[in-house]
Amino acid sequence: MEKIKYKCCATVFYGTLMHRKDCGKTAKFERDGKHYCGTHDPVAVAARNKQRDAEFKKRWEAERQASATKAAAAAEQKRRADCYDELLNSLNDLNSLYVRAWDQPAGSLWFSPESVQKFEEIHARATAVIAKATGASHE
Ligand SMILES: [Zn+2]
Repeated sequence: MEKIKYKCCATVFYGTLMHRKDCGKTAKFERDGKHYCGTHDPVAVAARNKQRDAEFKKRWEAERQASATKAAAAAEQKRRADCYDELLNSLNDLNSLYVRAWDQPAGSLWFSPESVQKFEEIHARATAVIAKATGASHE
């Protein structure tokens, strides 16, 4: 008895949905009474779709992570840049106070009420901007 050769019943599209035809390749699999070639076997199609979905999810997750890392780095850079002027001004003020102390007769500047008040102002500003620069909350 000669074995019947079935053809793949899958519909293939070429170009547009208007252009379609039966696959017609020699069938290798029978599923629910229909015959399919190795390419169009529903089990193989499902496996390929599952793999494609998994690869897509993996790529999407990698892109999402890369984007989050980039955004976090940009936010950190902005936070630091936002502190730059305040940090520089505070350090310049502290530095000028320090230099002036050496120019004065011993004890005359550090213990004058104006210099103590000025120092406390600068100290408060420096403390606030250091907190901002290190990301610690203040106020
Ligand atoms: Zn086929």
